[in-house]
Amino acid sequence: MEIRSDHDIYSDHVENTDDRCFETGPGLIRLNPVFKQMVWGGSRLRTEFGYEIPGDDTGECWAISAHRHGDCTVKGGQYDGKTLSWLWENRPGLFGEIHSEGFPLLVKIIDAKQDLSVQVHPDDEYARIHEDGSRGKTECWYILDCDPGASIIIGHNAASRGELADMIENNRWSGLLREVPVKKGDFFQIFPGTVHAIKGGTLILETQQNSDITYRVYDYGRLQNGRPRDLHIRQSLDVITVPFDENVSFDRGEPIPGGPDEALVKCAFYSVWHFKCTGDCTYRPSGKCLLCSVISGEGTVNGEKVSKADHFIIPAGYETLRTTGEFEMIVSSPE
Ligand code: ZN
Repeated sequence: MEIRSDHDIYSDHVENTDDRCFETGPGLIRLNPVFKQMVWGGSRLRTEFGYEIPGDDTGECWAISAHRHGDCTVKGGQYDGKTLSWLWENRPGLFGEIHSEGFPLLVKIIDAKQDLSVQVHPDDEYARIHEDGSRGKTECWYILDCDPGASIIIGHNAASRGELADMIENNRWSGLLREVPVKKGDFFQIFPGTVHAIKGGTLILETQQNSDITYRVYDYGRLQNGRPRDLHIRQSLDVITVPFDENVSFDRGEPIPGGPDEALVKCAFYSVWHFKCTGDCTYRPSGKCLLCSVISGEGTVNGEKVSKADHFIIPAGYETLRTTGEFEMIVSSPE
């Protein structure tokens, strides 16, 4: 995605076809989120975002999803009521050049009132073989908000697979797990094989591969409906990367000169940006769709009003995009 924030560059284009393009294009594809109640969930998806949630234990808002466990429907416009998976199958032109079987990404907001289980995800190869052809899961987190002193778990301290198995078997969690302090605006890329847990008091926007495969390593002995949730120790021991590399680095992606956004990550599956509109900006998007979640403020995208808590897809094919107002979005694009 190239971006120009210079007003003069925009006015060059007001004269030609760009504005007509906004009118005749499909417009923003707005989506209705799907909510998931969780043993660790809370009510911030209502109090912070104004969503009608199913209960005060709502942990996840599947904001942009075509997954069969929560397929978002389109809100308004010519595709009103269609599912995102239907659009993917029947209107491929909206998404641009993406080589993927099924819609590739899933965007969620996670309200962790309490700690999520300690978990790990497989990579594509392991998931294909052991999970009936499913995708693996690479994910990333943008910390929307958190309590003072909040932390998350990323990685472990075992030096060998034998030590890892021993520490898990003997419940040596405090010695095993690596806890990292977090603050609002932090960003983390979580590769498959990385032990991780979102901890209580954290509100996160997660962009991930379209996969729902989680191996639970430890669940604090909690009960759900009177029973502990399943653990997946054998699979976890198969897929956890040993030793954990504390200095694991990742590509931040393209810095965009002069633009109001910050590149967060570019990996094999997605690019993610933190977009900050202040005033009037013009973008020149690449040939792919953009997945957008407004996390604060309000404004317009191609003349359409957007505000905090909106999630939408900007279809592929726009030559220019124009935004106005004061708002922030997390934007992603499939690779
Ligand atoms: Zn995860």
